[in-house]
Amino acid sequence: MTRPSRVSCPIDLEAPGKRFGHLRVPHSSNRSAYGWIGVPIGVIVGGAGPTVYLGGGNHGDEYEGPITLLRLFQELEPERVRGRLIVLPMTNLPAVLAYQRCSPIDGANLNRTFVGDPGLDHEPTKAIAHFVEEVLFPRCDAAIDLHSGGRTLDYVPSALARTGPDDPLRARKLAALRAFGAPVSYLVPPVGNDNGILGAADRKGVLALGTELGGAGTVTPTTLAVARRGVLGFLAHLGVLDGVPEPGPTRVVEVRPEHYVWAPRAGLFEPAVVQGAEVEAGALAGWLFDPDEPERAPLEVRFEAAGLVLCRRPIPMVERGDCLFHLGADLAA
Ligand SMILES: [Zn+2]
Repeated sequence: MTRPSRVSCPIDLEAPGKRFGHLRVPHSSNRSAYGWIGVPIGVIVGGAGPTVYLGGGNHGDEYEGPITLLRLFQELEPERVRGRLIVLPMTNLPAVLAYQRCSPIDGANLNRTFVGDPGLDHEPTKAIAHFVEEVLFPRCDAAIDLHSGGRTLDYVPSALARTGPDDPLRARKLAALRAFGAPVSYLVPPVGNDNGILGAADRKGVLALGTELGGAGTVTPTTLAVARRGVLGFLAHLGVLDGVPEPGPTRVVEVRPEHYVWAPRAGLFEPAVVQGAEVEAGALAGWLFDPDEPERAPLEVRFEAAGLVLCRRPIPMVERGDCLFHLGADLAA
């Protein structure tokens, strides 16, 4: 660790048993000179076995993780756990409480903040990321961080791994994705993903998965069921739990740069497809109307590549550069 963590943890992470408390993330503000943000943390220490990090609320407008992990933490007892669970159901608590992707305090996106910097007093998001990477991950064998599309994307319920051909953990990540058993599993290349929590896990040699369970700023019983079964399946796969139903089949795809569709200009977007559709290269993605020129025919927006539509933007108002869709394509045999 280059610089020590600025976060203190009030609960013992080592002794057998089940405990819950609040990490103290220093935050001096106009209303509280020596204040701190209390980020919830739970630990369940059972018998011999691996240590697993379970995270939710990394992005604040994605609630499958918080709800699923709060429920599982309440249900699971140390007698059932072979190993140790470290649970952060609302990792970026200020963002979760604000229904925002990024922190309302420092504006930071936690999942782009794993940069090895404990931050200054007005940068609580950096402090949280640094604590997870430098204090928690060195204790962990495996991790899962539960995401969805948030307010601005809506996904086919998916789990994902950051991996490429040279990844020593690639086979284990694929096996873990099958154990999670989401309808779709997708692989993202490591390039350009260094500052997320999956990059942090790779740096520490932690076997880690992410998810994109749904989105549009809400949760449904369907997405919550995928989250719950998936986390239990992941823990069973790691040998931490018994008595978990077998996973359903998952379709494994990869996401490449040509799979993204971006808004070429601002306007009102009418989608031609929804997530779950199969499209050919050149297929129509939708139409973009210009509110400044209502009489003008809408601009046609097309998919560059073929594939499975994994997500779409549910908000019709768009600006140039907004992601409208992305695809996944089946892995080459
Ligand atoms: Zn997210």
